[in-house]
Amino acid sequence: MASYLRGIHTPHRKGTKNSPAVRMDIPQRVTIPMSMHIGKPAVPTVKVGDLVKVGTKIGDADGYISSNVYSGVSGKVTKLTDYLMHNGAATTAVVIESDGEMTIDESITPPTVNSKQELVEAIKASGIVGLGGAGFPTYVKLDVDPGRIDYLIINGAECEPYVTSDTATMLTRSDDMVDALNALNRHLGIKQVIIGVESHNKKALEAMKRMAASVDGFSVKVQSLPAVYPQGGEKVLVYHTTGRKIANNKLPIDVGCIVLNCTTVAAIGAYLRTGMPLVEKCVTVEGGAVKQPQNVIAPIGASLKDLFDFCGGLTEDPAKIIYGGPMMGITVANLDMSVIKNTNAVLALTKKESKLPKTTSCIRCGACINTCPFGLEATSIAEAYEKKDAAMLSELSVQSCMECGCCSFVCPANRPLVQINKLSKQFLREEAKKESDK
Ligand code: SF4
Ligand code: SF4
Repeated sequence: MASYLRGIHTPHRKGTKNSPAVRMDIPQRVTIPMSMHIGKPAVPTVKVGDLVKVGTKIGDADGYISSNVYSGVSGKVTKLTDYLMHNGAATTAVVIESDGEMTIDESITPPTVNSKQELVEAIKASGIVGLGGAGFPTYVKLDVDPGRIDYLIINGAECEPYVTSDTATMLTRSDDMVDALNALNRHLGIKQVIIGVESHNKKALEAMKRMAASVDGFSVKVQSLPAVYPQGGEKVLVYHTTGRKIANNKLPIDVGCIVLNCTTVAAIGAYLRTGMPLVEKCVTVEGGAVKQPQNVIAPIGASLKDLFDFCGGLTEDPAKIIYGGPMMGITVANLDMSVIKNTNAVLALTKKESKLPKTTSCIRCGACINTCPFGLEATSIAEAYEKKDAAMLSELSVQSCMECGCCSFVCPANRPLVQINKLSKQFLREEAKKESDK
């Protein structure tokens, strides 16, 4: 148990924490990928020349673990093109030239929800996925026997440096969150809600306490979390809010919990009230190379270039552009990449900010193991990966690594431990596929 309390103190660098979210100018063009979620890509429902409006469906979910995709601008479809996601996956993207009008699709009306199944179907239709980074289709998490749910845990931890888009949600979208919680209480029977917020995020804590006091008929508790990274990791959050420990290869629901990010909860509430599906995203635009760092509401599919231009442009050629925070984010190749559903931040880092220290030999200090929230043995994992020893990698539970980066952060030899863990997990996936193909 005690290992769950481990973690690191990272510099917060949350220069935008008081930045109200500002809606960006309507981009001339959006490029909307069909694979902005975990699971199968959506199938495009439009063709070149089609006219679309804000909220028009342009991609149909393909199967159970998938998600609908909608247009965030009005205009004309000009291209269906190949698109390489930041994680290396290839998909199709729909390119739409905006007419600058932002006309709303006539079909947009609030969904009718009178039962659990109608709520789940509505959230499925909305295209909402985990907006804190994971991108897992939200309706799937909620499509469970209500008798299994003891707690809804709302993740307001936002523990990554720089990122404050969830804080913007907590400060300004309490009403949307209340609408969602009322619906989840009514139709899923959720009676206990716990919102986890880091102790240093005082304004968000106060806003969530005010929100909790306004809810009637069920319990909403606001829990102050230690200001230690990574509080936002699902297993860490469940442990710190309920004391329940999730075993390897198990999910929060296996210990009676559903975990939703606070911005996901707000998106559910807004959809139930308006019927407007997920077409835009609040993104923290930060880093030393950004002229005016701020939280920006962008239509999904807006290019990073348009996003940075809205923030006054860049002060220098950035050495690194990252989707997400510096601990768990992924470097992207160019500024033509799009804001997608689960983009919570885009960082443009200077050479100084992103300089990597020299890697030296492991000195067997054990800091990586002592810091890991799960006590994983990063050194042994690295050795097993070098030998391509799948059995040993499984025994060392590398699959339970949440890629938080704490081990790499503390390593005095600057070894790329989290990167090796990612490669090890990929290696195990490939080995499993080889086995299933036999
Ligand atoms: S990246 Fe994985 S091994 Fe490293 S500290 Fe995080 S969970 Fe542990
Ligand atoms: S922290 Fe770095 S130097 Fe220390 S044991 Fe782990 S890998 Fe080796």
